[in-house]
Amino acid sequence: MKNIVIFGAPGSGKGTYSEAIVEKYNLGHISTGDVLRAEIKNGSELGKIAQGYIDNGQLIPDDLMIDILAATYDKLPKGQGVIFDGFPRTIAQAEALKTMLAARGDEMGMMIELIVDEQVLMDRLLKRATEQGRADDNKETIQKRFDVYRKQTAPLSQWFQEEGLRQTFSWSELKSKEGMIEAIFQAIDKANA
Ligand code: AMP
Repeated sequence: MKNIVIFGAPGSGKGTYSEAIVEKYNLGHISTGDVLRAEIKNGSELGKIAQGYIDNGQLIPDDLMIDILAATYDKLPKGQGVIFDGFPRTIAQAEALKTMLAARGDEMGMMIELIVDEQVLMDRLLKRATEQGRADDNKETIQKRFDVYRKQTAPLSQWFQEEGLRQTFSWSELKSKEGMIEAIFQAIDKANA
């Protein structure tokens, strides 16, 4: 199975669709947000550093994030394929991921971009706040995360396009979770055929 990067704004459904993909294709799953939240829960040094950034809606510095990503990747079984969920979020991270994979004889196989209107994203994240109680799902921090996404992460979409890896899936066209999943599965099947 080819490695997959799942890409989109906060609340676009990266976690949800990653889970569906992992279940069907049995890929390894790296969610950098989950890795950081686990470190915070454990009270580790890394968790203490990460917390300040997350609570402010800011990105963890690239150097630190790249080291965490490589260490997490190397713990997964080889050759199974991995879905990267929430990484890369900057061009520097994307370049580092490409280099890190190449050094191991691997590569990014495809990028799935989830496109969702900002108002829909805000509604979903506020709903998630009441359901999951994530500290960074409050209106002020969400707005900051959107700003960070627009400035630092969204430009990466073009980077993936230039690498010939980008495939886009738009909520306003597909209109349902089931419709999104079906279209994504078809694209994965095609990429691996
Ligand atoms: P997520 O669960 O993917 O929405 O991530 C939650 C928060 O963790 C983000 O708002 C960032 O503060 C931090 N984070 C997760 N992944 C990354 C990354 N690749 N680079 C920098 N910060 C990250």
